[in-house]
Amino acid sequence: MNSQPEPQLLFNRQEIEAAVKKLANEISEDYQGKNPILIGILKGSFVFMADLVRLLNFPLEVDFIRLSSYGRGKESSGEVTVVQEISTQIKGRDVLVIEDIVDTGRSVAFLMDYLKKKKPASLKLCALTDKPSRRQVPVTINYLGFTVPDRFLVGYGLDWDEKFRNLPDICTLGDNE
Ligand code: 5GP
Ligand code: MG
Repeated sequence: MNSQPEPQLLFNRQEIEAAVKKLANEISEDYQGKNPILIGILKGSFVFMADLVRLLNFPLEVDFIRLSSYGRGKESSGEVTVVQEISTQIKGRDVLVIEDIVDTGRSVAFLMDYLKKKKPASLKLCALTDKPSRRQVPVTINYLGFTVPDRFLVGYGLDWDEKFRNLPDICTLGDNE
């Protein structure tokens, strides 16, 4: 009954708020006078994106895409496919992808390539967290919140087996050093 692992605090809500504010300022500067489409990668980015867009002071649209999940637990199967498509025409538009975490880089590398084929005017990536020690495919992150250690993260949208997305802080799970 009580086998659920205990999340340990990594970044608290004040630290997250400061990081999101900083990202919003950078993004606001770069997209002034534009009308970009922000594409959130479901499900993990929904909390981050909700906080971020409310700090952006220029016209924008939002859309979402869902990529194949890596299944239960913590390990990646390596295969990436689109499970739920965007519903906007992005040809000729400025597109900013919003991701919760870049780990091996496979999901985001696949997605940027996939979206590029739809011929957006520009295509950039904003990630809340980056785990560079795990990278297998090179990825350019244009706007980054936190660089994180090789630990499994939950909270602030991130899940373990669909749990913990509602934690207001970013936490680590398990005790791998
Ligand atoms: P990548 O394709 O870069 O290996 O992994 C990207 C996806 O794997 C993320 O969008 C996220 O869904 C999942 N992922 C990778 N690392 C973590 C982590 O530490 N915690 C959680 N909850 N998901 C992760
Ligand atoms: Mg994700």
